[in-house]
Amino acid sequence: MTPSSCASSGSGRKKLGSGSSYEHNGEEIKCYCGDKCPMWTAWKNTENLGRRFIGCPNYKTKPCGFLRWIDEPMSERARVLINELKMRNDELHKLNASNEVDAIGELKAEMKEMQKQMSIAMEKVEREKRMLLKGMVIAWGICVLMICQLYV
Ligand SMILES: [Zn+2]
Repeated sequence: MTPSSCASSGSGRKKLGSGSSYEHNGEEIKCYCGDKCPMWTAWKNTENLGRRFIGCPNYKTKPCGFLRWIDEPMSERARVLINELKMRNDELHKLNASNEVDAIGELKAEMKEMQKQMSIAMEKVEREKRMLLKGMVIAWGICVLMICQLYV
């Protein structure tokens, strides 16, 4: 029963953002396809979390399996710490995302409420305008009547 040491296989090839180009002693390193190898940081593979590596740029289509670690393997302590930090970071991201959704939902509800209030206010203004107009017509009518009576 020997604990299988995690070989630096392609499983660590999870990139964060896009790979930046990598040069070793001013020379570009090429994979077995003959393509320039970009550099990535492993973020999914807990065993190698945070370690930089260069690998085949065609990993999505037809990887040749070329992979070379740039950083030395981390100490057990560093691995635990990085994993913990990553977990907390992921949780924070999730929290932020759900908070944003909540905030947007609240904002939408607020907007709806405001629109409702606005339309109510507009209706009120419209009604007052009509009443004012009616009042003016009546007042004018009374005026005309009074003037008519004066001359009769
Ligand atoms: Zn390749």
